[in-house]
Amino acid sequence: MVSTPRAPHRTPSAGAAGDSLAAVAADVAACRSCPRLVAWRERVAEEKRAAFRAETYWGRGVPGFGDPAARILVLGLAPAAHGANRTGRVFTGDRSGDWLYRAMYRAGLANQPTSHAADDGLRLAGAWVTAPVKCAPPDNAPLPAERDTCRPFLHRELALLADLRVVVCLGGFAHQIACQELGVRPRPRFAHLGEAVAPGGVVLLGSFHPSQQNTFTGRLTEPMLDAVFVRAVELAGMAATGAAPSSG
Ligand code: SF4
Repeated sequence: MVSTPRAPHRTPSAGAAGDSLAAVAADVAACRSCPRLVAWRERVAEEKRAAFRAETYWGRGVPGFGDPAARILVLGLAPAAHGANRTGRVFTGDRSGDWLYRAMYRAGLANQPTSHAADDGLRLAGAWVTAPVKCAPPDNAPLPAERDTCRPFLHRELALLADLRVVVCLGGFAHQIACQELGVRPRPRFAHLGEAVAPGGVVLLGSFHPSQQNTFTGRLTEPMLDAVFVRAVELAGMAATGAAPSSG
C-alpha cells in the first residue's frame, strides 16, 4: 500500500456543469477505477527503485499540468512508473520529461528547462501537458479497457481548455485518442510533424514520443522536437520569441 492517505474514490465521468481543471485533478488523484493499474502503481510505489528509496512515491493517478489558458495541449501516453508515478506531476522525474520540458523551454512555453519534482518551480505559459491514461501501466502499455475507462478525464480537460488551438500528439497512441476526441475522420496516418485539422479548427500535430527508446536510437533528436514546438507555437498564433515565462 502507498503510505499517503486515500481520498474518496471518484470515477472519471464525475464532471458536470461547473467543472474545473482543479476538480479533474482531484478526481484523477482519487480514482481507483482500473484494478490492474491501481495494483501496479501502488506496488511500484511501495517497492520503489533503489535510487529513490528515500522518497515517498505519489502512487496515484497523475493529473494534467500547465496553463489553464493554454492554446497548446501536449498529449503523451501514460505516467512512467518511476517518473510521474513517483513525483505526482506529468512528465516529471524521468528522461522523457527532461527532453520534453527542455524543448518547451526553448520554445518559450516553460520558465525552466528542467522538471525533476512537483515543487521545482516549473511553470508553463500557453501550454497544458497531460496523458490520456492517468495511471502508470505495466510495460507502458494500458489495456484497451483501461484506455476507455480513463477517457472521460481527457474529455473533461479538453472541454475546459477553451483557448485550445493545437494538440501535440506524442506518438501514435496519443494521435489515435486525439483524433477520436476531436472528431478527425477518417483518421490520418500518424507522422512526425504530420498535421490534421479537426472539425472545430484545432490542429493535431504529430511528434515522435520522447521515450528513451526513441531518443537513445536517434529516431527523435532534439532539433526534431524543437521543430514540433516551433510549428505548434506558429499554429497557435503565439509570438515565437523564445522568451520563457518568468519564474516569479
Ligand atoms: S487509469 Fe484513469 S480511470 Fe484508470 S484508475 Fe487511473 S485515473 Fe482511474
